[in-house]
Amino acid sequence: MKFSFHNHTYRCGHAQGTEEQFVLEAIKAGYETFGFADHAPHCYPETHTVVGRMNIEEGLTEYCETILALRHKYRDYIDIKLGLETEYFPAYHEKTMQKYRANGIEYILLGQHMTGNEGLPGAYFCFQPTEDAAGLTKYVDQCIEGMATGQFSYVAHPEVFNYVGGDDDFRRAEYDRLIAKAKEMDLPLEINLLGLGGNRHYPSPIFWERAALANVKAVIGCDAHDPSQVHHAANVEKGFRFAEKYKLSLVEDIKLIRP
Ligand SMILES: [Zn+2]
Ligand SMILES: [Zn+2]
Repeated sequence: MKFSFHNHTYRCGHAQGTEEQFVLEAIKAGYETFGFADHAPHCYPETHTVVGRMNIEEGLTEYCETILALRHKYRDYIDIKLGLETEYFPAYHEKTMQKYRANGIEYILLGQHMTGNEGLPGAYFCFQPTEDAAGLTKYVDQCIEGMATGQFSYVAHPEVFNYVGGDDDFRRAEYDRLIAKAKEMDLPLEINLLGLGGNRHYPSPIFWERAALANVKAVIGCDAHDPSQVHHAANVEKGFRFAEKYKLSLVEDIKLIRP
């Protein structure tokens, strides 16, 4: 792997390792380009208590300054990029983007862990197994709307919504809509190594069969939550074998889009 754009830090509260520990691992692994995309803060309603995200004021600024300083320090060894893994929350999306721009964020990945708007009524966490078909439809709609902004550089774990209703035809049809939008926007979809290595419900065979049919672009994402996952050789190997199995076209590079 020449690049890796989906990596976290201790700042999100459920990962460990400083930015510098991640960078040192990335250099050891031989990456040419290494991007941080920690879980992004958003401009939540003031009444909302945030768990597992850095603060959008000092927290975000400190994250950005730390990464830019490391970019300079290690500039002879590796190209470091400054990103975030972000949700698309329509209620306060634009306000959030202004904060990112002000901090010089260079790219954002769409990682839709929740439907609706976090902190407002109706928000729903996508990891919990559910038979709710309308929930999957809502998830796909929200991803499509997010992609349509043109602000995202790729879609992380696109099949993260944990639908277990058993209607596979319905599931295929919903996945097809998401995949078609990615194709239209020329956005790569991620084969997530954290899910693959941890036997999570993603990457999902049904999803990637459909993605292969559409010949959409695919990218391997480490989703490292620990410096040891920056280049987990066994998982990387699994990722390549997964891509081969479904005959997926892996991208040679990611065109980073400024939000
Ligand atoms: Zn995480
Ligand atoms: Zn992630």
